[in-house]
Amino acid sequence: MPAVVDERRLCRRCMTFQEAEEAEKYVALLPQDMLVSPEKAEERMQVCEHCDLLCGSTCRACGCFIVYRANAKAGRCPKKKWQ
Ligand code: SF4
Repeated sequence: MPAVVDERRLCRRCMTFQEAEEAEKYVALLPQDMLVSPEKAEERMQVCEHCDLLCGSTCRACGCFIVYRANAKAGRCPKKKWQ
């Protein structure tokens, strides 16, 4: 476990492009009833892509890879920028 030296959040490592491709393959293998429609996921991803908290493919507010969060029915934006 990394040491917390002050109030800043520690980097959880952004995805490389190769890892992002693997994440999309992973999402494609999830049961359909766990996922939102492709249109809804794209709508969410568009909001993330214009968000100042996005770092690579990672949300700096929650530390999640946005491709997982945006595709999951249970996914939520920690800043309530999308539902
Ligand atoms: S999940 Fe919300 S806070 Fe995180 S990058 Fe997307 S829009 Fe920004």
